Amino acid sequence: MSLKLTRHHLEAIRQHGVRDYPSECCGVLLGKAKGSEKEVAEVVPLKNLRHDAGRAQELLPVDDPKQETDRNRFLLDPLEQMRVEKDARARGLEVLGYYHSHPDHPARPSEYDREHAWPWYAYVILSVERGVAKDLTCWVLVEDRSKFKAEEVAVS
Ligand SMILES: [Zn+2]
Repeated sequence: MSLKLTRHHLEAIRQHGVRDYPSECCGVLLGKAKGSEKEVAEVVPLKNLRHDAGRAQELLPVDDPKQETDRNRFLLDPLEQMRVEKDARARGLEVLGYYHSHPDHPARPSEYDREHAWPWYAYVILSVERGVAKDLTCWVLVEDRSKFKAEEVAVS
């Protein structure tokens, strides 16, 4: 499997990560799946609901809201997510995956990321160190959800 995107898409993700630093940014990757390839057509930034700790706690309670903030977690707005998906489908696109940033952390999925991921989708992680966009990696959860496997990112 590989994720195909353009330089322009890559830049959009990197800029979002820098813009939202030191918070985690997140967004969705829309496009078409062709055989073993996922070809991205659009990168759509989404709100990180963890910016609103009260609302986030209502939607997906965490053990310690002081430890789990928008600096180390992201949470998508289910309504916004549904709207983007519906809009994409109407244009013949599908959700291929999601991206989020790791402020001052390596571009590797956390245990939290694994618990909240679904198989098949591409999960792009961008490391932002001290406000500068660094590594970008892509991961797919294996069918039994036990771990992520790295997915190739092909930039055209
Ligand atoms: Zn993460």
